[in-house]
Amino acid sequence: MNDIANFIGGRNVPPLSSAYLENVDPATGEVYGRVPASCPQDVDAATAAAAAAFPAWSATPASERSQILLGLADLIDENLELLARAESIDSGKPLSLARAVDIPRSAANFRHFATAILHISSEFHDFDGGGIPGGVPALNYTLRRPRGVAGLISPWNLPLYLFTWKIAPALATGNSVVAKPSEITPMTASLLADLCTQAGLPPGVLNIVHGTGPECGAAIVRHPDIPAVSFTGSTKVGQWIAQTAGPMFKRLSLELGGKNPLIVFEDADVPLAMETAMRAGFSNQGQICLCGSRILVHESLVEKFIADLTERARALRVGDPLDAPTQQGALSSRAHLEKVASLVNLARDLGGTIHCGGDRVAATSLPTRCRSGFFYQPTVISGLDPACPVEQEEIFGPVVTVQAFKDEAHAVALANGTKYGLAATLFTQNASRAHRVAARMEAGIVWVNCWMVRDLRTPFGGAKASGVGREGGMEAIRFFTEPKNICIAG
Ligand code: NAD
Repeated sequence: MNDIANFIGGRNVPPLSSAYLENVDPATGEVYGRVPASCPQDVDAATAAAAAAFPAWSATPASERSQILLGLADLIDENLELLARAESIDSGKPLSLARAVDIPRSAANFRHFATAILHISSEFHDFDGGGIPGGVPALNYTLRRPRGVAGLISPWNLPLYLFTWKIAPALATGNSVVAKPSEITPMTASLLADLCTQAGLPPGVLNIVHGTGPECGAAIVRHPDIPAVSFTGSTKVGQWIAQTAGPMFKRLSLELGGKNPLIVFEDADVPLAMETAMRAGFSNQGQICLCGSRILVHESLVEKFIADLTERARALRVGDPLDAPTQQGALSSRAHLEKVASLVNLARDLGGTIHCGGDRVAATSLPTRCRSGFFYQPTVISGLDPACPVEQEEIFGPVVTVQAFKDEAHAVALANGTKYGLAATLFTQNASRAHRVAARMEAGIVWVNCWMVRDLRTPFGGAKASGVGREGGMEAIRFFTEPKNICIAG
């Protein structure tokens, strides 16, 4: 059994209640470890450790914090294989994906913020006293200070990548942290704790508590000594966090669900659009918040586009995540598999055409060890009403829907026609159209002729029900620091 512990005050400690959750390998359906089922008292202990570590860490020169975090990034690189394997077993994603994307990007997160803090400047306003009764000349400058103990909560789909995307800026700017990874994918967070010790991060600066959302996550959100909460996860939980933390006047960053359109205009580079639609639809079994799960295609192209997409989706190699040729692994949990299956069944009931997939992968077509795993076939659906739940709700699985549109205005209306607003992707070779349509997308991120190209300096986050606040670059540095205006007359 791979039992893991909480990481509090620099030590691995069991949960106070001695209660554990089962950790299931989604590729086999078998329990392979236990995760602490932490209670609010564990969160109290982690918060106390973080609060005790805060004064010294926040006073540590930026150059020293930077060195420690750069050392941590190097350790992540050195342990690539160990971390990638743990991530694959925990989440069901192909080992090749964890090795190529999740783990290298986790190291990149630390490098990015470890170096960004060496170049921060803050605002200065030279006021001449004019225009305001009683005004006198004054110099204003904005002092930014870390907020204190940051509460960070992350989901299971990109476990170490999203965990470190929050931890890196919080620590770099001098905060101490209480962090909770998803209880479904806790392994790489636990390994990260060991690497933090090796990197020389002082005890208590980063504390990791494991457990369920309603028990352990909620205790972080409610904790009076945690003034800032950064959450990535579902819109439903994000709503609860906003309702709970809002009246406590906490700083909140909420990165939530998406139902992202991918638009293929009649002037698109169609082979590029097709190749990208496959990646945007099916990478990580469609379990990426940025996935382009609603494909909108000009009516002149749609028939052939669906035929080609179907052929490619059928050809995806679904199998053991640890096998090198595997392109599609398992879904993260049995409950999630059932949710995906129920939405596809609903599409069928609503009269949608299922071009391929539409069911669990037959056990007989899987390697012996994976026969009880949570595998779903890559699925392409068309013919649904854009207003139906399958087109409106996030499925978060290897399922794409296709709609035809008549003209640009129709494409924009379909693209913006959900409650979500995380990302949108456009394929057009007309530069004017690219700018015009991109500006009209109700989304925090718009990609033109590409997908998932991430510059870590740019603002990251969603509009509408996809969240509030932005992460990345200066946005994250602002989020984790409290601005104070100092006005000196003279
Ligand atoms: P989830 O909301 O169920 O859980 C996310 C995290 O929140 C987990 O650690 C969970 O334990 C915790 N949690 C659950 N209930 C809580 C509560 N009441 N209080 C505090 N914490 C609680 O989401 P998930 O199923 O783990 O992840 C999938 C979702 O995350 C999808 O909707 C996906 O779109 C979204 N997501 C968004 C982004 C983004 O950047 N916008 C990135 C990745 C995933």
